[in-house]
Amino acid sequence: MKETIGTSGLIFNEPLLWEQGQKGRCALSIAPGDVAASPLDDSLVGEPPAFPDLSEIEVVRHYTRLSQWNFGVDSGMYPLGSCTMKYNPKTNERQASLPGFASAHPLLPQELSQGALQMTYELEQLLKEVTGMDAISLQPSAGAQGELAGMLIFHAYHKSKGERRTKIIIPDTAHGTNPASAALCGYKPVPVKSNEQGVLSAETVAAVMDEDTAGIMVTNPNTLGLFEDHIREIAAIVHDKGGLVYADGANMNAVMGIVSMGDIGVDVLHLNLHKTFSTPHGGGGPGSGPVCVKAHLAPFLPVPRVIKTNDGYALDEDHPESIGKLHAFYGNFGITLRAYSYILSMGPYLKKVSQLAVLNANYIKEQLKGTLHLPYDRPCMHECVFSDKIQQEYKVSTLDMAKRLMDYGFHPPTIYFPLVVPGAFMVEPTETETRETLDGFIDSVKAIAAEAREQPERLHAAPEHAKVNRLDETEAARNPCLAGCPTDRTKEYIKG
Ligand SMILES: *Cc1c(COP(=O)(O)O)cnc(C)c1O
Repeated sequence: MKETIGTSGLIFNEPLLWEQGQKGRCALSIAPGDVAASPLDDSLVGEPPAFPDLSEIEVVRHYTRLSQWNFGVDSGMYPLGSCTMKYNPKTNERQASLPGFASAHPLLPQELSQGALQMTYELEQLLKEVTGMDAISLQPSAGAQGELAGMLIFHAYHKSKGERRTKIIIPDTAHGTNPASAALCGYKPVPVKSNEQGVLSAETVAAVMDEDTAGIMVTNPNTLGLFEDHIREIAAIVHDKGGLVYADGANMNAVMGIVSMGDIGVDVLHLNLHKTFSTPHGGGGPGSGPVCVKAHLAPFLPVPRVIKTNDGYALDEDHPESIGKLHAFYGNFGITLRAYSYILSMGPYLKKVSQLAVLNANYIKEQLKGTLHLPYDRPCMHECVFSDKIQQEYKVSTLDMAKRLMDYGFHPPTIYFPLVVPGAFMVEPTETETRETLDGFIDSVKAIAAEAREQPERLHAAPEHAKVNRLDETEAARNPCLAGCPTDRTKEYIKG
């Protein structure tokens, strides 16, 4: 096997800043002033907070070292399925931080915000072209909020027809946020099963679709990484009974320039700009989940909407049937800006992005099937789902293999999701990895599978090289220590 990047780096222990500070240290020195000091009235200010005193280099080293404890797309392959952890070109960061955009104040009058409004308007036009939908709002700040917006639009549509439907059909291959969003909106999710091919069949939908059902939420491509190829028939069945079709488009990275969602019967769709369109994500930072609709649902979109007028661009609040406002101002502007920059810089190559994402996933699927069990052996989209069925014989689980991958220098894939595959091991390589990196990943998984046969105990103890080894899977969630657990010395410092 070729040498992989592995992880045996230089990782320092790092005390808290409170433990490093020494009274009187200072990060910068300012020449003494020639103006007489006029001390603040202490009674107005109160006791100053007991911040540690540190020199500049202590602060720089502290945060640089902490950043090395983390794994990101900029440090190595991050094959986390359903997340599209691809490399985001740095130019898009640069455009988003141009002072004219980064310093634009959201309360500036519209006349002084023409550039920002124009960008927003034009991004909507570009996304309409990518999705085949007719109208878009960039307001929702995450995929799940886009779904909620979609469900509110379903409700507003049925209400406008004088109807009050109560149920939503959701297949077992939908993303977990789908039933949650439907339920949050007051709908009762009706679960349906995918077939042996891992997709939804028209008969299954026909059997449950009725006039009390508001519609269906389909993740397409679904969470098995498979395209829902009966979507047109399914849409016809749902429309026939007066329902609407929602497509979760967070997996759009597989089908850009290839599938027009608007042409296959989808009424509402959300995108994840922070997956497909160049925003680094994973740490829970700001995201963007635009909600896209066909023309008949445009009146229900969130307000304000950006419109083009005779002399520029404006925000339009005048949509009496709108579901209202979902986010302050106009969504997470910096994220939409990155998407705009990404789409303009990629141009017609967006299609190539999807083709390469699909090619890479199929390459991994073909290379690793046999090493890992492949429950649905058919061409996949942007991700492929294996299981630990073969390794179970040696009492090695998906969790053990995922942990061991860290020693080989890779972020673990998504594990135990989707739920339809027991012991799921879900890999999404994305289009931005090189052939050499993909081969390194494949070789590593093969080496781990050999270890599973020969020395399973080693996998049970993995990772070996990480800063910490097997962590308690639930302790951090049950007993979080958000401020850093204070040591005796810290407590003393804070007190004194
Ligand atoms: C990530 C994802 C979501 C949720 O998006 P958030 O921005 O995390 O709320 C929904 N559906 C699918 C298929 C996803 O992959």
